[in-house]
Amino acid sequence: MESSARRRVAVARGDGIGPEIMDATLSILEAAGADLEFVPIRIGSAVYAEGTTSGVSDDAWQAISDTKVILKAPVTTPQGGGVKSVNVTIRTAYGLFANVRPCLSYSPYVPTRYPGINLVIVRENEEDVYGGIEHRQSHDVTQALKLISRPGSERVIRYAFEYARHFGRSKVTCFTKDNILKMTDGLFHQVFNEVSAEYPDIQADHWIVDIGTARLADTPELFDVIVTPNLYGDIISDVAAEIAGSVGMAGSANVGAEVSMFEAIHGSAPGIAGQNVANPSGLLQGAIQMLYHLGMGPVASRINDAWLYTIESGVHTADVFDTVHSTKLVGTREFAGTVVANLGQAPRKLAGHRTSTNPVAFSVTPAARRLEEKRLTGMDAFFEWRDTPEELAQMVLSVELDPFELVMISNRGQAVYPNRHPETFLVDQYRCRFLAPAPIRHEDLVSLLGRLVGSGLDLLKMEGLFEFDGAPGYSLGQGE
Ligand code: NAD
Repeated sequence: MESSARRRVAVARGDGIGPEIMDATLSILEAAGADLEFVPIRIGSAVYAEGTTSGVSDDAWQAISDTKVILKAPVTTPQGGGVKSVNVTIRTAYGLFANVRPCLSYSPYVPTRYPGINLVIVRENEEDVYGGIEHRQSHDVTQALKLISRPGSERVIRYAFEYARHFGRSKVTCFTKDNILKMTDGLFHQVFNEVSAEYPDIQADHWIVDIGTARLADTPELFDVIVTPNLYGDIISDVAAEIAGSVGMAGSANVGAEVSMFEAIHGSAPGIAGQNVANPSGLLQGAIQMLYHLGMGPVASRINDAWLYTIESGVHTADVFDTVHSTKLVGTREFAGTVVANLGQAPRKLAGHRTSTNPVAFSVTPAARRLEEKRLTGMDAFFEWRDTPEELAQMVLSVELDPFELVMISNRGQAVYPNRHPETFLVDQYRCRFLAPAPIRHEDLVSLLGRLVGSGLDLLKMEGLFEFDGAPGYSLGQGE
């Protein structure tokens, strides 16, 4: 019987294994007495098939805006162009800036070489290459824009520190690739340094993402909370979940100021869909996080206890079954039925896993700051060109450039003019860097572009070059 007091939650059954693991999860929530009303929403394959490229139906937008909480099963993202990822669309449309992925091992009941894994990955959830801003620029070259903003970085980094403080975690580690990506990842790292200074009670360190990931895979106990830009977070959270035991065991919360979405970290696993073999634990863990988020701690703990008890009693789905620690191989439905039967039980061996690592919508408003003085100094103009860089330079220099100077031409970032190595491999997209020694206006750029295009050059795009308080807001060409 429904009562008006029930908390409404939007529920997306998803694709592939989505419907079966969602049914299993909801059956456990209902049996445990979670005081929720499930509002079904349509997203994913069926909506794409209707021609809606976002994959989100109109009624789904409305239901999410009304309920502010989504429990979402995985959705298949069709390969290739034409449609956008539902996951990314919902995360960015509702400002779900922090993707919180607790990662625990359940040793010895779920085999892992690393029995002590207990870490949380806080992944930036809206920026980086996930803006999906991609272009085919020339016959040879495609590009994706990687966007990292100061407020976006600050929100998620503050969230990671607040999370660590709230849950008594001692260290926050930042992963970036700022030895190469000095402006974008460099900004994330810089903001990390600034924010960490406000949390002297929490240790802070930084790793380059490649060696950091290697260490994560080798010595995960080095890490406690990891905060990282979107793409690295996506990759390392699967690595962490898999080495902890199975991607099928980990849940994930997408936290925003108003709306939050809870899910499994894994995908729709089409290869095992409809066979009643998928592990519903990842989605159940997402649902448990949701219950904590909704202030329903007692029912969340009751379900988590029954689930831990089920895992330690050896009743396992195929992905984590082994002949040493498992006692019974079960399907999706039977696993859920066992968790329901175990409601009221408490784990004995996995009692240490009862501490909640639920997300909280901390207030993480970026700090006020002084805006630096911004000055236009030139532009990078990109052209399609199939002859040599020297011939391109000749053509550019035949145009009236004043008040600009051509300071560099690069190919895929490598400087090839005024000097180049004969071995440098060349494709058909070149960047010409123009700088003006004297102050210029945007109109000067537009008029130079007009002259360059007028000479027959095939313009692909331009980027303005700016200085901020006198510091260049652009990177050098390789070898410049
Ligand atoms: P996947 O996570 O679906 O599967 C990877 C491997 O793990 C497969 O072998 C699969 O069988 C296994 N696996 C995953 N979940 C399992 C579970 N609960 N129980 C047992 N085994 C499980 O990754 P994929 O194959 O790369 O992606 C499939 C689709 O899912 C793609 O379209 C992808 O875009 C989408 N996807 C969606 C989400 C999401 O909705 N949040 C996340 C990741 C991938």
